[in-house]
Amino acid sequence: MQRDEAPGVAVVGAGMVGVCCALELQRRGLKVQLFDRKPPGQETSFGNAGVIARSSLIPFNNPGLWAGLPRFLTNRTAQFRYNPLYLLQEMKWGLGFLSRARRSAFDETTLALDALIRLSIPAHRQLMQAAGASHRLREDGWIYLYRDAQALVKNRLARETFDHFEIATQELDPSALRSLEPHLHPIFQRALWIKDACSVDDPGQVVQAYAGLFQARGGVLVQREMAALQRDARGLWQLHGSDGSVTPAGKVVIALGPWANDLLAPLKLAAPLAFERGYHQNFVASPDARLTRPVYDTAAGYVLAPMENGIRLSTGVELTRRDAPVNLAQLEMTEVAARQAFPLGAQSGAPWLGSRPTLPDSRPLIGAAPNHPDLWLALGHQHIGLSTGPGTAQLLAELMLGETCSIDPAPFHPERFIA
Ligand SMILES: Cc1cc2nc3c(=O)[nH]c(=O)nc-3n(C[C@H](O)[C@H](O)[C@H](O)COP(=O)(O)OP(=O)(O)OC[C@H]3O[C@@H](n4cnc5c(N)ncnc54)[C@H](O)[C@@H]3O)c2cc1C
Repeated sequence: MQRDEAPGVAVVGAGMVGVCCALELQRRGLKVQLFDRKPPGQETSFGNAGVIARSSLIPFNNPGLWAGLPRFLTNRTAQFRYNPLYLLQEMKWGLGFLSRARRSAFDETTLALDALIRLSIPAHRQLMQAAGASHRLREDGWIYLYRDAQALVKNRLARETFDHFEIATQELDPSALRSLEPHLHPIFQRALWIKDACSVDDPGQVVQAYAGLFQARGGVLVQREMAALQRDARGLWQLHGSDGSVTPAGKVVIALGPWANDLLAPLKLAAPLAFERGYHQNFVASPDARLTRPVYDTAAGYVLAPMENGIRLSTGVELTRRDAPVNLAQLEMTEVAARQAFPLGAQSGAPWLGSRPTLPDSRPLIGAAPNHPDLWLALGHQHIGLSTGPGTAQLLAELMLGETCSIDPAPFHPERFIA
């Protein structure tokens, strides 16, 4: 049964976040149209490392950032590169981001992100089953690698946080690590196996499977670029496509990831997003060198993840304009470090670049757009949008329908950044 009157809900953006929102609103009986200029899951949700982990509750701007900052500011590390001019332009964002690298903000953010991730993981399992994508899900965790035994000891904040949130982990010595991942080169003195984590072998395909489920359940998917949003005299939203089309909608959900402000800024609703860009390069998998689950080399700041078609190497952060030219320096440095760790085969395909959209407090915006009735936001998912798409969708749907929320919505309210 459709619960809303005619033009229904338009979800704009069919990445992991938008597709999950569309599915969740549809499940609650609303008539939903999902718009994207590309087929579903072709952008940020395509190129990520495929990790869905309870351990991802620790934001980059955590209290441990201060110790690493002098090194990061040299602009020579593989984990973090930045464009100084961009940082100057985004000084307010940068100061806001750094000011949250303090204990009280960290406690608030980890509590909020833990709730969002915990809401998401069982929902992912259900969605994958319903979408016929369960074969893509691995339930064997992921591993933090430490080249130096002291580095694990020094990583007290992470371990204490995992313990505090009862995230199952197990410390591994080199022989225990070898028994889990025998093909890693023996350069790691310690490792931490995050058991409360899963991963997928092709994130883009998972989004496509979810979008297929949405369509199979009667949802309408439209491939169209949206150029603008306006409210008409009747109070209906009008979505203006770049092709000149105009689509009315009773409610609109903006799930445009790094492109959200393209539509929000003209409405004076721009969110303070910065772009933590990241690259990946796929490598041919060799039958003699297998990786069972994703691994994170903490010293070099990259993730190696087994994918359906090989091994994917994903980089840390490049803080710069979303549309700045590709700069492969970070990926090249990372590949050198990754080859020390694992016998990677030849490169397969071209390097990929995506932008993690990040707010100063590292929490997404989920909720009503201030002063714009029937406009809803689900954006700013930084490093964890693959993990938290389903939880975001559930919280957003509960807010849209005035239901009791499964988790505290306050840490995600758009008002914290948009007046
Ligand atoms: C290198 C890297 C590794 C990562 N690893 C992980 C990980 O392991 N686990 C994890 O949870 N997260 C990870 N992330 C983060 C995660 O990928 C993102 O948080 C997530 O994909 C964001 O999803 P989204 O739906 O908000 O955005 P997107 O997937 O970018 O979707 C936005 C959609 O909007 C569409 N669009 C844009 N403009 C328009 C327009 N004008 N009209 C119509 N459509 C438009 C785009 O085509 C796109 O499909 C990683 C990110 C990177 C860059």
